[in-house]
Amino acid sequence: MPKSAAKVRLVVLDRDGVINRESSDFVKSAAEWQALDGSIKAIAALTKGGFRVAVASNQSGLARGLFDYGALYAMHEKMRNLVAAAGGRIDHIAICPHGPDDDCDCRKPRPGLLLQVGEQFGVDMTDVPFIGDSVRDLEAAVAAGSRPILVRSGNGRSAEKDLPPALRSVEVYDDLPAAAAVLLAE
Ligand SMILES: [Mg+2]
Ligand SMILES: [Zn+2]
Repeated sequence: MPKSAAKVRLVVLDRDGVINRESSDFVKSAAEWQALDGSIKAIAALTKGGFRVAVASNQSGLARGLFDYGALYAMHEKMRNLVAAAGGRIDHIAICPHGPDDDCDCRKPRPGLLLQVGEQFGVDMTDVPFIGDSVRDLEAAVAAGSRPILVRSGNGRSAEKDLPPALRSVEVYDDLPAAAAVLLAE
């Protein structure tokens, strides 16, 4: 498919620490899933601005037995309903259900999850923005040839202090609303 002006304008978001509050104990239920200030409105603004919005999230809590798919789908239903109520849409959610020892291709920092998103939309992931709050998000973006963007919400502030040399010039914004505003202005 040729890259043309008509191509899908896609943005990919990490979930925990970008859309909702991060927890060192894992976010295990819809009740524990709490949106960050402004994140829902920011997603709606992206939708209204012509972006397709996908989520790419490591969910090793599944492999660890901390929650099941029913709980995960309940979290995602809550997230999607909030976004829909704000006039936006999450078009696709890609998750890695594996643990750190499973050696899968989809667990970030590997690029598999982002490449899955590209297949879903029929989009070349080159330069597609991927907004995350952890170094492994940035590394996954680089591995997929995408555009890494760090936000300071969630783990982002500590990630910013620990950026590996190759990522020191990465784009950094305070939160998803700030990052979305930049993308919408381009
Ligand atoms: Mg995160
Ligand atoms: Zn995986």
